[in-house]
Amino acid sequence: MPVFVEVALPVPMRQTFSYQVPESNVSQIQLGLRVKVPFGRQQLVGLITAIKQECDVPANKIKPFSELLDTTPLLPESLYKLTLWAARYYFASQGQMLSQALPVALRKGLSAQPQTVTFFSLNDAGKAVDISVLKRAPAQKKLFELLQQSSISQDDFTTQELSKVALKALEDKGWVERQLVVNETDLSWREQLNMTETPLKLNKQQAVAVSVLNQQKGFHCSLLEGITGSGKTEVYLSILETILKQGKQALILVPEIGLTPQTINRFKRRFDVTIAVIHSALTDNQRLEAWRQARSGEAAIIIGTRSALFTPMAYPGLIILDEEHDSSFKQQEGVRYHARDLAVMRGHLEKVQVILGSATPSLETLQNAISGRYTHLELAERAGAAQKVKQGIIDIRSQPLKSGMSASMINEMRMHLDAGNQVLLFLNRRGFSPALLCHECGHLHECDRCDAFFTVHQGLNEICCHHCGNQYAIPHQCHECGSTMLMGHGTGTEQLAQALEQEFPQYPVVRIDRDTTRKKGSLEKQLNSILKGEYKILVGTQMLAKGHHFPDVTLVGLMDVDGALFSADFRAPERFAQLYTQVSGRAGRADKPGKVLLQTHQSENPILHDLLKNGYGKFARAQLEERQQALLPPAWHMVLLRADAHLAEDADNFLQQVANLLPQDKDFEVIGPMPAPLDRKAGKYRRQLLFQAKNRQRLQQEFEQILPQIEALTESKRCRWSIDRDPQDLM
Ligand code: ADP
Ligand code: ZN
Ligand code: ZN
Repeated sequence: MPVFVEVALPVPMRQTFSYQVPESNVSQIQLGLRVKVPFGRQQLVGLITAIKQECDVPANKIKPFSELLDTTPLLPESLYKLTLWAARYYFASQGQMLSQALPVALRKGLSAQPQTVTFFSLNDAGKAVDISVLKRAPAQKKLFELLQQSSISQDDFTTQELSKVALKALEDKGWVERQLVVNETDLSWREQLNMTETPLKLNKQQAVAVSVLNQQKGFHCSLLEGITGSGKTEVYLSILETILKQGKQALILVPEIGLTPQTINRFKRRFDVTIAVIHSALTDNQRLEAWRQARSGEAAIIIGTRSALFTPMAYPGLIILDEEHDSSFKQQEGVRYHARDLAVMRGHLEKVQVILGSATPSLETLQNAISGRYTHLELAERAGAAQKVKQGIIDIRSQPLKSGMSASMINEMRMHLDAGNQVLLFLNRRGFSPALLCHECGHLHECDRCDAFFTVHQGLNEICCHHCGNQYAIPHQCHECGSTMLMGHGTGTEQLAQALEQEFPQYPVVRIDRDTTRKKGSLEKQLNSILKGEYKILVGTQMLAKGHHFPDVTLVGLMDVDGALFSADFRAPERFAQLYTQVSGRAGRADKPGKVLLQTHQSENPILHDLLKNGYGKFARAQLEERQQALLPPAWHMVLLRADAHLAEDADNFLQQVANLLPQDKDFEVIGPMPAPLDRKAGKYRRQLLFQAKNRQRLQQEFEQILPQIEALTESKRCRWSIDRDPQDLM
């Protein structure tokens, strides 16, 4: 009797593929094992999703799979279910979703079994050697001395900068022997948890939060809404202690930028346990090792960014998502999943509690807290008893600006700097100028492949398109009229930092944005120097706005509020309010009251006044009302279909066909096709179609029903298209 399997493959097609099981593998087959299969001319790695005795593919067409890669399923059932659920919810291919859930090394087919580690030690011949014979080979001598003390593992060669060449030389001399050792899983933390730091005495609000959280059993979701510096992390640490003492693991998700060694160190300082840290700078092998430690239960705590959500745990006990409002939790390419929403689902499937923490909760989460689905815990006071910040608006209409700075801003800065404090200026545009302007004809230089201006990077002598990466040397002549009178238009962080160096030569300036932090470890280094007070003026993009504590900053200036307020995106006010609140949370502490100043041409803007007067909490609740009235998320549910093509027509035609397939009534709105806000990118025209539905189930059903028809449309072949459920960004 032949046996067949259905295999989910990492391809965009929303289907599984049938393969025959080779005779020799029939008894080993299980759901969830990886197999290598022939697919067209490639070999792909996929997961078995079904085992069947029959197969509709004709016998002469069906191929056997090439290799069975596992003996036990890679993902625990709960995670496997989560990926299936996510594939359905995000209208994605099961195979793509499953492969998302695995570290790259496993996607490529590497073994999931614990690695063996090679140890090197001196053999009898080596022990008998007199070290003086190595005096002309210092690297070998150094290594030899270490080997005389103890054996050395292969990992030591990466962590301690030992010479592999020297090792080879010693091996060639016949003095060294190798030993293979399998890493034993150390689960001792589950029996005896060692604390390496005494917890702080919780203040009243923290104590209430901790006691509520400690009482939760099984799946439960809580919002921990706590202003910056109110001690959310201390609450996490406290509940972690409870969970770890029960022998259970915790998964902590943080935004990309929050994953600094400072954050990790707070957890390391408190508990003497293995912490698996999972982030994008790891090599494939390091990532796999972290994954294994989590899966085996050796890692008591797993900290990571978005994709760490899928890390399996042998003893799941808790999921925390810090800065839950952060947009980096939503994946913006491939399967556009939201780690926050999937974290809640994972908690449900694994029956563990989920804590969402933020000073500025997303409207989605806030709504769930207000409606009572989530427990709402608040920390309204700064833990260190800091004072409230003062805030002010600088009306810059018809005021002269010096590289974007008004005279009032400069004066205020001088006062704070002269008093020995630090000042933080926030400008969300990197580069020297956001455009290159011809002073003679007024021409603004546009990217030839996008509907966007080039950003001027003076230090690099480049103009660069931030949308497609297109870059050229700064031209000497205007592309339009040939004039040589070209100048930067508008201010970016590079220019602001330069202007500040001239204005305040005695106060060192540091600039923090993607351009200055490209090198691994450089952000960390700069942040440390700021904390040590080596810099007095801090200039940065939103990288500076998140999660860092700068106790000596007493003035925060937002240089360009208008850009943030004017946007086609319905989430713009929410985003701005979050940013403003986060940034102002950086200012001041107990003995040094802080101040926040906003520069704007819109000093009467009601959104601005609402926010400044009432704070984020009230502002967000008012926004929720507005969203309700405008039939926008989270009240209604949204799906965005994007299409791009070299001919605008092709994208339009496709989306029009899709629109025709969908019903339209008072509970189901279809908007478009229309150009995307950035309507040409990298040489392609971008169009979109928006669905808004009152009812989530109906949206799911309607869409699932027409999905095969959408895929079958001949127009779909002429463009690249994608589905974005719960879009965070309409660009
Ligand atoms: P958040 O994560 O909410 O921004 P943190 O947990 O980082 O806040 O706490 C801010 C500061 O207050 C930290 O320096 C922390 O050590 C301190 N802190 C937190 N809780 C307490 C407490 N109960 N007593 C004294 N200091 C505290
Ligand atoms: Zn010109
Ligand atoms: Zn471009």
